[in-house]
Order: sequence, then structure tokens, then C-alpha cells
Amino acid sequence: MLELPEVEVLRKDLEKEVVGKRVKDVTVQTAGIVRPFHRNRPDFVKALEERKVVAARRRGRAIFLDLDGELTWVIDPGDNGSLHRETASEQLGPDTHLAVTFTIGGALHLSEAADQPTVVTGVVPTDGAFEAAGIPPDALDPLDDNPTWMEFGRFLAAAERPLKLVLTDPSLVAGIGPVYSDEILWEAGLRHDRSSASLSTQEVRRLYRATQEVIGAAMKAAGSPLDDSDVEPMIDDDGEVAEHLRVYGRDGLPCSRCRQPIKRTRIKKGVYTYHCEQCMI
Ligand SMILES: [Zn+2]
Repeated sequence: MLELPEVEVLRKDLEKEVVGKRVKDVTVQTAGIVRPFHRNRPDFVKALEERKVVAARRRGRAIFLDLDGELTWVIDPGDNGSLHRETASEQLGPDTHLAVTFTIGGALHLSEAADQPTVVTGVVPTDGAFEAAGIPPDALDPLDDNPTWMEFGRFLAAAERPLKLVLTDPSLVAGIGPVYSDEILWEAGLRHDRSSASLSTQEVRRLYRATQEVIGAAMKAAGSPLDDSDVEPMIDDDGEVAEHLRVYGRDGLPCSRCRQPIKRTRIKKGVYTYHCEQCMI
């Protein structure tokens, strides 16, 4: 599961490793990943080959690698996609859907272990790249937009919906999903079903600060995604929850603030929230 903090760390890695490099060869293993943007694989390969990467941006959980020629290489890592740095001669693994080599050496592999991969990628004109990638133009990206707490407060008042739904609705907030929405609300001590328009000034400031702190802590925990092929899962196969998470996946365990057991509550079909009934008001 990928949300804004993990993708921002990946963007920083790409800025260091890929910006300034020119694409040599492009191998698409799974045609479906380019289909939202291209008619077929050769169309994508032709658009990307020989282009130089000039900048690495992020919006929500999508990566935008700007190329020369006013084009942008969009990479949406989907639910579980990952990018790894490899040598140019490295064979493609069974879960690798795309390999891109560079003229001065090295390669990037885009992988996802899934029968139906959710990663998508394509080359689009830089002008309008966010829209082409399906990023709602009005959605707030809490890191990229860097709002002041007063702007954040006006945004919450206008949204006028339960906090959990505001934080996880991609048309309102870009890049925050089930995990960090719960973490942010726990950190702020605010209930998931409080209306975003009902917050006092103090509560707005608490939620604002919690958003920054949770994103910052998650970025520290994300390590170096381009090189670590085994990034720590949020919840591993033994049900062990990643150390930087305070409520997500911790139902039945004591709240680390008030010791009451954490609850898991169904909000709507397929959407749950982990929360503490005692210290989130
Ligand atoms: Zn508590």
C-alpha cells in the first residue's frame, strides 16, 4: 500500500538518481500498464526512448518525470508498485512490468507482484500532465501545496464532510489513503466522523500539525525505496504492524496514548477506520 509519504521519498531518490540521464532502451513486459496513455507498447517506447529526464515531481501518489521536448513520463505506482535501480544487464523478474536503461548506464525496473497490476505509466505533454494522469485539479496535496494552517482551515470548512472521508477522498486530498488518514486523526486526537466544518481553531491547528508530523515520520520510516527491494510492509504476514504506525492495523492493542484498546470500525463497504474511542473526540 503506497501513500504520499512513500512516493515522496521515491521522488527524492529519483531526483538524485535519474534526473540528468538520457533514456536508452525501454522494455515493456506487460502491455496493460501503458494502455491508459498509449494505443500500444511501441507507441510508449517511441515516446520515451532517447528522452532526457530533466526534473522529478510528485502529485498525490503519482510520479512525474519531466523530459526534454516538453513531455512528462508519468508513473502511478498503483496499490503496490515499486521502482528499483538495477544494472543495465539485469534480467527482468517475473513481477517486472517495465525496464528502462540509461545511456550512461544503470536501469530502472517497475514491478508489482499482482495478477492484475495496478501500476500505470505513459508519456504525456508536460502541460496538462496532472489531468492526463487523473489527478483532480482541485485536490489538495498537503506536502506539494504546503498550505498555511489558515488555508487548511478554510479548505476543511468548505469540504464539510466527516474527517476520515475528507482525508481519503482523492478529489479533495491527493495521496492520503486508509493508513495515514487514521494515523493523522489519531495524532490530532479527532474522531473520524467529526464534520470537517465543526472544528475549532485549535482543532484545525492540531489536525494541520498532525498531518505534517505523520507525513514526516512516515517519510523517515520509508528508507531508500530505489535500493531496498524489501521495503517493510505496513502489516506483515504475521500480523506485525510497522513500527511507525500508532493505530492502523492495531485493533485490540492498547492505544499508546491512553491504553484503551484500539477499535476497527467499518465506515462503508471495504473502508475501515482504526481509532481510539477514548482519546479521539
Ligand atoms: Zn487513546
